[in-house]
Amino acid sequence: GANGALQEALVVGSHGRHVVIETPEGERLLAHSRGKKSACVVGDRVRWAPAGDEAVVEALSPRRNLLMRQDEWRSKSFAANLDQLLIMLAGEPMFSESQLNRALIAAEDAGIRAVLLLNKVDLPTGDLARERLAPYRAMGLTVLETSLKAQPDAALALLAPVLAGHTTLVLGPSGMGKSTLINLMLPQAQAQVGEISQALNAGRHTTTTTTWYWLGDAVEGQVRGALIDSPGFQEFGLMHITPQRLPELMPDLRAQLGHCRFYNCTHRHEPGCGVREALDRGEISPNRYRLYEALWDELEAGQRPG
Ligand code: GDP
Ligand code: ZN
Repeated sequence: GANGALQEALVVGSHGRHVVIETPEGERLLAHSRGKKSACVVGDRVRWAPAGDEAVVEALSPRRNLLMRQDEWRSKSFAANLDQLLIMLAGEPMFSESQLNRALIAAEDAGIRAVLLLNKVDLPTGDLARERLAPYRAMGLTVLETSLKAQPDAALALLAPVLAGHTTLVLGPSGMGKSTLINLMLPQAQAQVGEISQALNAGRHTTTTTTWYWLGDAVEGQVRGALIDSPGFQEFGLMHITPQRLPELMPDLRAQLGHCRFYNCTHRHEPGCGVREALDRGEISPNRYRLYEALWDELEAGQRPG
């Protein structure tokens, strides 16, 4: 058919309307999508055709998963086909538990595994950060610890096997050490970005971009790992989630859902609520419950028309 002539590629950069695609031979091309239907994000597999000095994305392969970011009051596509999120945290500046919770909910919603990385454990504030992460360990999350600056070799040895063979989106609120991590794992990062992305960044006032970096060289028969970095990243899009779904996306609350008297319990005011009983017994942390209440209110307000 008509699509038979199209070639395959991977989206490795997004710059507003434009994307950078990489062919199986490793060539990088500037591209734009034909219409809203084929709007693509980093991590997408696409089929394209040449069109003048740009490529046109004609078709999008089905996605394994899709992560959304917050755009004004809407959720907007952000990255696709991820294996995991690496969420960077530190005790100095102290990470925000609200931000962490939002990232975890976005990951749960998209069906993507999250790994927590507590960095700067060489600082005394690392102990407090570790304590604050206890409920997250109890939920079954992996919490890795590094001192990227003080002990880079140990960090590299710890992280290399976690990242190898996977596509990982790295998230780090400012100051947690994300640049230090990217520089450590990808000493050649700048070279990989390529001329197209550099020209796009320099030439226009585009918002900084989401970029795909290969980890190591291609080896026949092996899946190549990759890191995705998004310097301009602000917040995950949660506005497409109804408040009623929130407890299912918070594993500590989810574990209690069978114990409520009412099937449509909101876990806020109802008698016989399993979630609130678990809170009273200390099985759900007060911080986590407060985050639930606050996010419920926010999502409810966001979904009210007008
Ligand atoms: P980013 O804003 O997340 O990109 O953070 P940076 O990588 O720029 O790191 C912020 C600051 O923390 C810099 O001054 C780093 O040198 C410092 N830093 C990074 N990792 C560590 C660490 O493991 N221990 C300590 N003490 N400082 C670190
Ligand atoms: Zn309940």
